[in-house]
Amino acid sequence: MPRSQQALADLVASLGLSDPRIEAAFRVVDRAAFVSSDYGGTAYSDRPLGIPEGQTTSQPSLIAQMIDHAGVTAGSKVLEVGTGCGFQTALLAHLATEVYSIERSLALADLARERIGGNHPAPVSVIHGDGWEGYGAAAPYDVIVVSAAASTLPDALQEQLREGGRIVIPIATQHSDDVLVFVKRDGRVELDHLVTPARFVPLVKGQG
Ligand code: SAH
Repeated sequence: MPRSQQALADLVASLGLSDPRIEAAFRVVDRAAFVSSDYGGTAYSDRPLGIPEGQTTSQPSLIAQMIDHAGVTAGSKVLEVGTGCGFQTALLAHLATEVYSIERSLALADLARERIGGNHPAPVSVIHGDGWEGYGAAAPYDVIVVSAAASTLPDALQEQLREGGRIVIPIATQHSDDVLVFVKRDGRVELDHLVTPARFVPLVKGQG
């Protein structure tokens, strides 16, 4: 097995994923293809890495946890907020039926589109825009995953969530960014549970 393939296999094994669908997605989406080649083998470590525009791609174990708690099924229409390098977008494209991803940086949206390519089962649309407004054109969504820390749960995302749907979002507190799961029940979006405290770049208001 080539060294990079072995490193990817070792990374996936270290994540100890219990959902075989998520594990399969991590096996085929090569993180090294989404980050600078300067990282070399570090791309396969479970660490956050810098990406262009001063942003960060989370450590794979955190991405795995967020995707797991999002409850993405083969029939889910997913909205991702904060495309970044597109690594999580590509994973979602192996798990869902349709993926929309919104990124405020034009440079990152273009880069992610190129890196995601077309070699995945679900169609992916990367939109340059402001995630605080969501993406109404394709709503409602079964799942919304936000990859940057918000001060509050954006109203537009609550409106664009389907009944019974889930939002996974880091909400900034004084000490950490708490990754929370919200569920829409009887038309109201309610807090369901805390996944983990973590650190994210901020969900900035307005299009970049
Ligand atoms: N899942 C991505 C995370 C990138 S970091 C990855 O693994 O690469 C978070 C991203 O959110 C950054 O690219 C940042 O530009 C973007 N972002 C910040 N505020 C935003 C907003 N209001 N709307 C859309 N994207 C936003």
